[in-house]
Amino acid sequence: MSVNPSSLLAALELGGTKTVVATGLPDGTILEEFRFPTTTPDETLDRALAWLEERGVPAAIGIGAFGPIRVNPASADHGCLLNTPKPGWSGFSLIGKIASAMPDVPVRLDTDVNVALWAEAALGAAKGASDAAYITIGTGIGAGILSGGNLVHGAMHPEFGHLKVPTAPGDDFGGVCPFHGNCLEGLASGPAILARWGKPAAELPADHPAWDVEAWYLAHGILALLAILSPTRIIVGGGVSQAAGLHGKISDLLKTVANGYFDKEMLETLVTPPALGQEAGIKGALLLAGGVGAR
Ligand code: ADP
Ligand code: ZN
Repeated sequence: MSVNPSSLLAALELGGTKTVVATGLPDGTILEEFRFPTTTPDETLDRALAWLEERGVPAAIGIGAFGPIRVNPASADHGCLLNTPKPGWSGFSLIGKIASAMPDVPVRLDTDVNVALWAEAALGAAKGASDAAYITIGTGIGAGILSGGNLVHGAMHPEFGHLKVPTAPGDDFGGVCPFHGNCLEGLASGPAILARWGKPAAELPADHPAWDVEAWYLAHGILALLAILSPTRIIVGGGVSQAAGLHGKISDLLKTVANGYFDKEMLETLVTPPALGQEAGIKGALLLAGGVGAR
């Protein structure tokens, strides 16, 4: 495909475990993509920027990043990581680092989950929806929220993963969140699964009891989202969501914990995997680079 260099966009998805960098077009088409492990801030960004520089100067760069991160463009510390448990990242200026390497390139930033949700709303499982959420279950747990057609930012951005959820019957695992112990993220993120069962989520078979516990906690988190936002779609993505059968288990438990209160038919179709699979985040960052979803 021949591409007008002036329309070449760059996208960066920064996760707690993996980083994705890509070049592409304003419609979300990815031309080239590079995935590598997230390490220290400078090493990770240097690697992403070196890869991008080999491909020419992009017209703009869109970023979907893990948080907490200052995404309000009016803030003095716009683009800085806030109080993250991820060692070395608190206070790091993502936008400052990129601006020093590519000073003339506009940088647009949102959370990893907001950009993933925007991509799913434009091209995937939430097409046409004005009220939807995208949950990631990966190194952390978070949710992007679309309410009345607008992405929710609020004072910072939503922190779905740090919701308190009731303890599953018989569960005495204390959780891994350094701030809250047994919040949703502390109980059900990838690192929580590893700490609880002694094996990474990717290595646990579909019939392992881990998945019933996982679905139980997610169903309670989703019940809270449903009760507050009344979305028509809740997309569950992120690395851990690739576990076979997990979406079905979450839907079944959601019906159980909803206990007949919400419309049964709505509950049948509410929870879905991302139509864009593991590409939702990077595609959303590309759309953001092109100005779609930017504020
Ligand atoms: P990030 O948090 O960097 O965005 P991911 O969303 O890919 O990264 O999440 C990483 C987590 O996903 C790890 O805890 C890993 O064990 C888990 N994971 C990766 N592949 C699978 C799989 N096929 N099934 C279940 N868990 C998986
Ligand atoms: Zn927490």
